[in-house]
Amino acid sequence: MTFTLPTLPYEKNALAPHISEQTLEFHYGKHHQTYVTNLNNLVQGSANESKTLEELICLSSGKPDMVGVFNNAAQVWNHTFFWNCMSPNGGGSPTGKIAEMINASFGNYEKFAADFKQAALTQFGSGWAWLVQECDDLKIIKTANADLPMVHNQNALLTCDVWEHAYYLDYQNRRADFVQVFLDHLVNWDFVNKRLEN
Ligand code: MN
Repeated sequence: MTFTLPTLPYEKNALAPHISEQTLEFHYGKHHQTYVTNLNNLVQGSANESKTLEELICLSSGKPDMVGVFNNAAQVWNHTFFWNCMSPNGGGSPTGKIAEMINASFGNYEKFAADFKQAALTQFGSGWAWLVQECDDLKIIKTANADLPMVHNQNALLTCDVWEHAYYLDYQNRRADFVQVFLDHLVNWDFVNKRLEN
């Protein structure tokens, strides 16, 4: 299987001023593209070349001799997921089923937002903050580098990329400001609702 860079669900300037066109040109056009290119180079011509992205992630997870495949396959998945987690007029309190579930799990949206931000800020170095579904529970977790909920039997609902390349052009070292803007202006709750498993 040859992997390709998926189309962004909006124009590259659509998230400005919260995330600039320049950031998306680098983050989507360079970083995400590089993970796709690297993955193709690693699997084409190998025994795994007919596998899907999810199959590659699961079969390479925890295998020391497949670290390159895991890192690039997971980062392809994570970035595609991250773009879908945002929309130009998103953010703020959720609606629909996820709103009820957040209230049940965290008390209210403000507590959820505070906990999500805390996870994003305490991820030391590169990684991701996530809202995940595990059985009937919602949890907030953080993962390092390319690690992702799929390999921990969790269903990813929402993520924020906290690698420096996600925010440095717009926010320099101010990860907290980036995560706050993500929560206030970018989260696509319609997408999160569609991710829920019954
Ligand atoms: Mn990234």
